[in-house]
Amino acid sequence: SPSLRDGEDLRTAADFDLRLTSPDRVIFPEDNLTKGDLANYYAAVADLLMVDLANRPMTLIRCPSGRSKNCFFQKHDSGSMGAHVLHVPVKEGDGTTEDYLYVDEPIGALECVQMNTIEFHGWGSRIDPLEKPDRLVFDLDPDEGLGFDRVKTAALRLRDMLADLGLETFPLLSGGKGIHVVAPLDQSRDWPTVKSFAERFSRAIAEAEPETFTANIRKNQRKGRIFLDWLRNQRGATAVLPYSARAREGAPVAAPVTWDELPDLKGANIFSIRDAASLLDRAADKGLKKWGQGRQALPDF
Ligand code: ATP
Ligand code: MN
Ligand code: MN
Repeated sequence: SPSLRDGEDLRTAADFDLRLTSPDRVIFPEDNLTKGDLANYYAAVADLLMVDLANRPMTLIRCPSGRSKNCFFQKHDSGSMGAHVLHVPVKEGDGTTEDYLYVDEPIGALECVQMNTIEFHGWGSRIDPLEKPDRLVFDLDPDEGLGFDRVKTAALRLRDMLADLGLETFPLLSGGKGIHVVAPLDQSRDWPTVKSFAERFSRAIAEAEPETFTANIRKNQRKGRIFLDWLRNQRGATAVLPYSARAREGAPVAAPVTWDELPDLKGANIFSIRDAASLLDRAADKGLKKWGQGRQALPDF
C-alpha cells in the first residue's frame, strides 16, 4: 500500500455522514489545534481506534470549552449524543440498572467528537460478555518527577514477569506520563477472578522489588517509585483506549508501541493528533499488526 506519510489518502471527517459544528473552534490552545483537526485525526485513525473501542462500554471525556477547562467524564447516556452512539444496560452494585454508552462503528465515535469528546476510555470487557474481561491492564503510574527511563525499565520488567507466567503483553504509551502494559484475555474468567489476579500479582511484585514498585494507591507511598495501578481491572473501571487523544498540552494520543522500540522512545506523549499518517504507517508495519491481539487464558498465580 502507498505511504500515507504526506497526508494523502487520509480519511477526514468530511468522508463521514457527520454534521460537524464549529470546526474552527480552537480546543488545544497551546497547539492551535481545532475541533476540526481533532475530528480529522479521529476520522483518519477510525479503523485502528475501533479495534479496541468497538462494543466496549466507554467513558468519554468531553470538553465543550477546550481541553483545559470544564471537561467532564460521561459514562451514562444523556440521550443526545448521536444516532450511532448506542446504549447497553448495566446492572450496578446497588441493584439498579444504568445505560452505558458504546459504539460499534466509526461514525459513532465521530458523533462523540461532534459532542466535544476528546478522550475515549473503555472497560476491560466488551458488552457481550460484559462479565468476562478480554484484557488485563497494568497502568504504571510514576511518582512525580520520576524519569521516563525508569518507567520503561519497569514496564519491561513487568513484561518479563508476566511472560514467565505465560502471558504475552503489549505496551501502550498513555499519552500522559506512564505506560499501560496490556494482556489480551480469552474471556473465560469473571471480573472478581481477573481483579484478584491483578491485585495479588501487583502486590507480589511490589514486595519483591520495593525499590521500583508499589501496589499502594496512596501518593505518599510512591516516593521515587511506580504505582502499579491494578485497580483498572475491576468491573466498571476504565483505561484510556489505544489511539484516544488526551486533553493535555501538545494534543498527545495514547499510542501502541512494540517492546523492541520502547527502549528508544523519549516519553509517553511523543505521538499527537498531528501524527495520524505516521500512526497509520506504523500500524501497517509488521511489528504493530498484532498489537493487543490474542486470546490468553488467565494463568494460575
Ligand atoms: P498517565 O500515564 O499520565 O497516568 P493515565 O491515562 O494512565 O495517564 P491515570 O490517572 O493513571 O491516567 O488513570 C488511569 C485510567 O483511569 C484513565 O485512563 C481513566 O480511564 C481512569 N480514570 C482516571 N481518573 C478517573 C476519574 N476521575 N474518573 C473516571 N475514570 C478515571
Ligand atoms: Mn496511569
Ligand atoms: Mn492510574
